[in-house]
This record gives sequence, C-alpha cells and structure tokens, in this order.
Amino acid sequence: MGDLPPREFFSPRHHPVCLLAEGLAGAEGVEGPPAVLVAGGRIQALGRAALEAPARRLPLPGLWLTPAPLDAHVHLRLGGAPEANLTSALSAGVAAVRDLGHQPGLATPRGNRQHPPWVVNSGPGLGAAGEGGCWLAQPLAGPGAMAQAAWERARAGAGVVKLFVSGLLDFDRVGGVLHHLALSPDEIAAATQAAQEAGLPVAAHANGPAAVEACLTAGVDSIEHGFFMGPELLERMARQGTAWIPTCAAVAAHALDPEGRHDQTVRDNLRRILAGQLEAVRRAEALGVNLVLGTDAGSYGLEHGAAVFREMALWLEAGVKPATVFRAATSRAARLLGLGQELGEIKPGARPWLLGVPGDPRANPLLLAEPRWRSF
Ligand SMILES: [Zn+2]
Repeated sequence: MGDLPPREFFSPRHHPVCLLAEGLAGAEGVEGPPAVLVAGGRIQALGRAALEAPARRLPLPGLWLTPAPLDAHVHLRLGGAPEANLTSALSAGVAAVRDLGHQPGLATPRGNRQHPPWVVNSGPGLGAAGEGGCWLAQPLAGPGAMAQAAWERARAGAGVVKLFVSGLLDFDRVGGVLHHLALSPDEIAAATQAAQEAGLPVAAHANGPAAVEACLTAGVDSIEHGFFMGPELLERMARQGTAWIPTCAAVAAHALDPEGRHDQTVRDNLRRILAGQLEAVRRAEALGVNLVLGTDAGSYGLEHGAAVFREMALWLEAGVKPATVFRAATSRAARLLGLGQELGEIKPGARPWLLGVPGDPRANPLLLAEPRWRSF
C-alpha cells in the first residue's frame, strides 16, 4: 500500500475543532451537550469540556455523531486488487478491516495506520497440508510446524493468527462440512499457544461442532463462520467470552448467486443454511455471546465496504437488537482487532474517524450506510 496523503480533518496538524451534534452514539458518561473536541488527530474531550476549549466550532444540526463501523473479517486479496478493495471500504465509511488470509507467496496488504481503513492482517493462514488444506493458508503438518509458523507471523508484523481448522461448507448438504477437523487438536493447541505467547489473538475458521469444540478447548479468541455448531457450543462460547463472527452475508451472497454458479437445489440449500445461521445468531445474542460483525468481503458476490451493511441487515431481519448490531460493528469489533483505544467509541484519546447520521444509530444501525457527514 502506498501512503495516502493525510486528509485535512483528521491530520494531527489540523487546528482544534469542536463538533456540535444533535446526539452522540458510542460515547459513555458525557456531561453537558453532545460536543466533541478534536485536535492533534485525536478526540480530546467530550461534552462541556469540549465546548469550553478554545476551538473553531462546527455545528452539525440534526446529526448524531457515531464511530465509523469496522469489518472484522475480510480478504483484501479477493474480489479485486487490495488497493481497490481498501478504496471501496473507505468510500463505504469503514474505519478498519481485519484481513484474514491470502495465498502464500503474495504480499500482505498493510494499509496505513494514519488513514482509514486501518488494516489488521494475518498474512497467509495456517492450514493443513494435503487433504483439508485451504489455498488461503500455508500448508503445515505437526504441532511444531504450526507453533513455528505462528511465531513467524508475529515477527512479520501480523496482528492476528488465522487458523483454517475445518473445511468449507458442503453446499450440496445442509449441515455438511468438507473436512470436519483438518487440523488435529494438538496442532490447534500448539498454534494457539504460540500465537498468544507472541501477543497475537487467534481467529479460527471453524464449521461444525468438532472444529468449534477443538478451537474452544484450545482457547482461540474468535470463531469465524461457526456454521452448524449447535446450542451447547454457543453456551460454551458465552461462558468463555469467545468472539463469534458468523459471516451471514457470505452465504446470503451465494444464495443470491449473481453469476449463476449454482443450480436451484444448491440455492435452496444455501437459503436453509442461512436461515439456520441467523437463528443461531439470534440465540447467541440471548445467551450473551460476544457477537462481532465481520463479513468475508471479497468472497463470491460480496463487495468490500458495502458488505458491512448487508451483514447488519441480515442480523436485524433475524431479530437481533439494533443496539447489539451497532456495538458488534463498532466497540466490540475494535476490541477484537486490538484497537479498543483507537476506534469503535467516541472517547478522549481515540481517533476522530466519525460519521454524522440523521438519528441514533443504536436504534437503527443501517443509518451508518448513508452518512450525511464524515470526518474522513
Ligand atoms: Zn474468510
């Protein structure tokens, strides 16, 4: 990624500005009016303290200020060139993406931390050699090789280690997974321990109960996809505090099938798979699972940036509370990406990557799709 020139508003060189909004979402305990003081490329103060500081005032009548959303699961090397995909994410107002795996041997897209979207990357995933391996992962065999690869990712500057524990969904069979457990429990445990010792969280591609259970036993930080895991494992995720990124939009895109890749039977299966996953998401919310919004953008029919709002719309249709959807795309996603101090909330010290929307996005998170004002 080349360096983009700094946009004036969030540049550290910008003069202090006090944003005066109708309301603030994603801000806690603000005293006084909904005002946000930005200076030096950071949010400096909120409420009365913001209003009292010497700064140019920028009124945003009728608009609520909100942190921009994040996408916790994308593939920047799929669905177009990484540069173009980052531009799509930026134009959709996405503040950060987590890039979870690309073909080994290709350069890892890195982005630029001074400008949205911030990129947290895994580099190529860690997967099985031979049967059950994934083309987005380095093929590895044995706990020693898995641990070593996790250390290598940390040294290469990755922000997360991605494991491909199971295969993909079998679209010919509702409930079917190709390669239930492509990595052994010992391999999963070795990679997880090495990654976490190196200070990196572990994101595990896992479908079906065998893969999800092995990942939860190893103590991974997030389950990606997690189709067909069943209610007991949802309860266990809630108990352990494991994040779940259910990537519903990816299956919905396959079911829509814009290029006519599937026959009618497969499209019907996909609709049933999606309905089951949405039911599980609703149940996960009730159980208190740490649901985080991610999309699998770059996979078939799923555009970077816009995918965030397709995922939101599906959760809302499933009956997930709007406030949960909002948090899943902002504060929870930022924490999972290790950016809890930088993004996802309006608070002193955080980056001012904000959107202005005509209403409270905790009541209607889809307002984030059409901001009337943005700081970046
Ligand atoms: Zn993926």
